[in-house]
Amino acid sequence: MTLPNSFPHAVDQADSDDLLEFIDDPEDVAPAPLRTRKCWRVLIVDDDREVHNATLFALHDILIDGHPLQFLHAHTGAEALDILRHEPDIAVALLDVVMENESSGLDLVRLIRNELGLAELRIILRTGQPGYAPEMRVIRDYDINDYKTKSELTRIRLLTTLTTAIRSYEQIHTINASRRGLELIVNSAADLFSQRALRGFAEGVLTQLAALLRLAPEGLLCARDAHPQPGALNRPLTVVGAAGRYSVLIDRPLEEIDDPRIVNDVRRCLAEKRNIYTDGATVLYFSGDDGNNAAVFLATRTPLTETDRQLLEVFCVNIAVGLENVNLFGDLEFLAFSDPLTGLPNRKGFIKAIDEHRQRGEAGWTVALIDIDHFSEINDALGHEKGDTLLLAVMQRLRDWLGNPAAEDARATLARVGGDVFGLLAPDRKLDPAALLAQFDAPISVEDYRLPVQATIGLTRLCADSGDGLNVIKTTNIALKRARNDQHTHWRYYTQDMTAATRARLDLLHDLRAAIVGKRGLSVHYQPQIDLASGRVVGAEALIRWRTDDGRNIPPDQFISLAEYAGLIPDLGEWVLRTAAAQLLRWDAEGLPSLRMAVNVSPVQFRDNRFVSRVREVFDTLGVPARRIELEITEGVAMFDADTVIATLRELRSLGAEIAVDDFGTGFSSLSYLQQLPLNRLKIDRSFVSAMTLPDGCGTRIADMVVKLAQALGLSVVAEGVENEAQAALLHNIGCEQAQGYLYARPMDADNFRAWLHARLPAEA
Ligand code: C2E
Ligand code: CA
Ligand code: CA
Repeated sequence: MTLPNSFPHAVDQADSDDLLEFIDDPEDVAPAPLRTRKCWRVLIVDDDREVHNATLFALHDILIDGHPLQFLHAHTGAEALDILRHEPDIAVALLDVVMENESSGLDLVRLIRNELGLAELRIILRTGQPGYAPEMRVIRDYDINDYKTKSELTRIRLLTTLTTAIRSYEQIHTINASRRGLELIVNSAADLFSQRALRGFAEGVLTQLAALLRLAPEGLLCARDAHPQPGALNRPLTVVGAAGRYSVLIDRPLEEIDDPRIVNDVRRCLAEKRNIYTDGATVLYFSGDDGNNAAVFLATRTPLTETDRQLLEVFCVNIAVGLENVNLFGDLEFLAFSDPLTGLPNRKGFIKAIDEHRQRGEAGWTVALIDIDHFSEINDALGHEKGDTLLLAVMQRLRDWLGNPAAEDARATLARVGGDVFGLLAPDRKLDPAALLAQFDAPISVEDYRLPVQATIGLTRLCADSGDGLNVIKTTNIALKRARNDQHTHWRYYTQDMTAATRARLDLLHDLRAAIVGKRGLSVHYQPQIDLASGRVVGAEALIRWRTDDGRNIPPDQFISLAEYAGLIPDLGEWVLRTAAAQLLRWDAEGLPSLRMAVNVSPVQFRDNRFVSRVREVFDTLGVPARRIELEITEGVAMFDADTVIATLRELRSLGAEIAVDDFGTGFSSLSYLQQLPLNRLKIDRSFVSAMTLPDGCGTRIADMVVKLAQALGLSVVAEGVENEAQAALLHNIGCEQAQGYLYARPMDADNFRAWLHARLPAEA
């Protein structure tokens, strides 16, 4: 009898009362589940039908160690091979030595061991005649359990031989199963350690478990949410990973599963801290520190064998270690992507959220950066603790405003991307900047204070070419900066031309660097300074000019800040000083009246610790009389550490140079501080000069104050931006000694300056 191909790979005895009947009529049997109640599978290989029948007759209602037998039948070596190739878990083969030919039985044994690699299968050789007994070497090499002549095999003998063989099979099988399981565990542990996300870990555990138990991967892993929403009272038990039909439960709280059996089993497992085996379910307990325990629920239709359970116990210990690692990684990741104060995503987390949003490809969303105005001042005034409280209150306002989002908006993300900057990713229809700003209309209470808080918002509408999360943050930041400069609306959407402006600035910087390195297109112009009493030219201010290769004149207001920003100002400043000083010497040589040369020094240049030595170097190499050089510093310099400023100024003075304070009155300077500075001159800012001739005369009062102050400090005064005679007359009246401005001359290049001076000299003479 040959087994048809459709023969099911396993047979459930419960489905078929009579095995023989079943074998005779296999079509009637429905395929059984993979794991079934255990029976010993025995293959009878014999070309004699009688032997099959006799064996069945002898063994038909036998139980060995409590389990029944199941027979498979083959009548040729080829048939036997076919069955062995396709049928798993055959415990014993009762094998006729002589079939088609004298060696077909032994040939089959060789194939079983060497080609099929079936090492666990026990083999009992039977032969009709004693003369065909195989040699001992063969019995040993091919791991043959027993050799009997058929006449020897009485029912009892057959039974004992078979029992011994089956027990031996069970032993070998168990050992191998454990070994395989251990291999899986070792491999899976290595695998699992590389999984960082709890979800990946959970999936890994379920896959490995299924492989271990030879089950379809179906189950779920439940753990406490290690990083719940800020404000959540406890850490809810959540399905963090699932496979098979349980996949739909991922990310759902355990309570929401509407299968009370799963909920109860998982709860019980975690409460009792041990594995639980019930009819139809296996729940495994994984311990982790800090209450990071987890439970795996597996649907197992039949009770697990002892071996399986032992394997699982080992597996659980290993997995617990893996779980701890995962939690550790989770903590690290949480720290890396979250802001500790608010629990919100930080800048990195926000970028990640934007990137994830981009991957979903949902249209109609906007990213906003919300900057709390003057936060650092509030922080300084009230202390950091109250500052933190204020930030939390701001977060709460923003949360309240977002409200309970509709399902499709649930992915809206609030983040804290900087000290006082919040990020918001939300659908356009929700993110109305005016409405958002209105949230700050009412003051925010911080303990006893009611603080008026205002915000400025930059926004980027997400579209296909918004770029990645980092880029979106950048563009939104550009919009935010624009919004800060906008007195009227306090918010701005990012537009392409903003990047164009940034790009243009970058291009300009590139050109400027080339200009400074190649000394191309840069020149110094000179504007005369006049003594108001005598009308004589007493000095000149050196003002830099830049004409780009393509012929554009870039005003210094634009490129000086760029040079400061790019670290080019020390070189540029030194070049101006050198050029101006050299020009002064040239004019001397040409016989022009002895002038003072004023040179501007940027605060960034001033702060450079090589500044003084570079000035000295210029003076030394050129041999210029230092007392005729006046360095114009701005009040911005006074913002730096007083001791350093005073020390630097003293050094400059010791070189012989004079010091003027430019734009005086526009910046912040304390009088006591000013008194300590070794100065020579104050420059009344152009804005006060132009205000002098306005009807309210306010500028005159300030100019008057500056002059009086200068007199009190023993300093001389020069007014800049003098455009008309009236201003000059007023300045003269209040005691201002010198003036500079369009009234006398615009800044001119060296040749024009010389010509202008020559033209004026007869008048002066
Ligand atoms: P500043 O030091 O206040 O220079 C005076 C500015 O006022 C110059 O503008 C000058 O052309 C302009 N000005 C002079 N007289 C009048 C007037 O009667 N009416 C009006 N409306 N303006 C007048 P400029 O050359 O465009 O320079 C602008 C600023 O750039 C300077 O302001 C200075 O802060 C900076 N700067 C110029 N050259 C240098 C330099 O070599 N180094 C540094 N660090 N800064 C420089
Ligand atoms: Ca100046
Ligand atoms: Ca000025």
